[in-house]
Amino acid sequence: MLNVQGLSTHIGKIQILHDIDFHVNKGEIVAIIGANGAGKSTLLNTLAGLIQPSAGTVTLEDEVISGFPANKVVGKGLSLVPEGRQVFSNLTVKENLLLGMFSKYYKNKNLAYENLNKMIEMFPNLNKHLHNLGGNLSGGEQQMLAVARGLMSNPKIILLDEPSMGLAPLVVKEILDALVVIKEQLGTMVILVEQNVKAALKVADRAYVIDQGRILLNGTREEISSNPQVMSAYLGVK
Ligand code: ATP
Repeated sequence: MLNVQGLSTHIGKIQILHDIDFHVNKGEIVAIIGANGAGKSTLLNTLAGLIQPSAGTVTLEDEVISGFPANKVVGKGLSLVPEGRQVFSNLTVKENLLLGMFSKYYKNKNLAYENLNKMIEMFPNLNKHLHNLGGNLSGGEQQMLAVARGLMSNPKIILLDEPSMGLAPLVVKEILDALVVIKEQLGTMVILVEQNVKAALKVADRAYVIDQGRILLNGTREEISSNPQVMSAYLGVK
């Protein structure tokens, strides 16, 4: 379980996140939804150790993981798939994947290849392109690669920042369906940040709505999908 308590983040002198409490249970996909600038990316970046919180704690399976730099947080079992994918265009798909467990790769090549095989079995499309350059993949394939790279470190929890951005609806469905497979086959917890609320609520077990750096409400997929406030603000239903 991931447990976030009283998390606040400042960027410079401006407070972006205010006293955030939330949790992800084992075996859950949790969506974080909210408008542009609500603080979703800041939340993920804080959890991943890219930004240090000004208050609060994050625990992952009883171990405190806040207060550490990003490279240490990955080692503790939390992996971030950043907004915009950030696939290395001039490296092959295989090289991109191996970078997902960069430090362990040098220590344990067998484990690296074991994980690589697991990923290409799970994402057959990547297998087809294993020796192609990342930059030559379609947007959807690059997103799959970014997700698979994030899984290479065997995380307990994976955080995805707007995976559907710029992708056609069918491709979005494919990516989000893959999250359900990841949850079920690998047992990985998932946090999904999405502006595509409708698509996110199809796969999420629960969701939190964030507004101006605060948690506004939370509930199960069914509760959030039928909440009039969410419907009018994020689903365009008046
Ligand atoms: P989006 O969906 O547009 O990415 P978001 O919900 O992810 O939005 P954040 O990117 O976390 O929102 O931004 C939250 C707030 O923090 C915004 O008001 C933004 O302007 C501000 N902010 C984020 N990063 C910085 C920064 N480096 N310097 C100053 N302000 C920042």
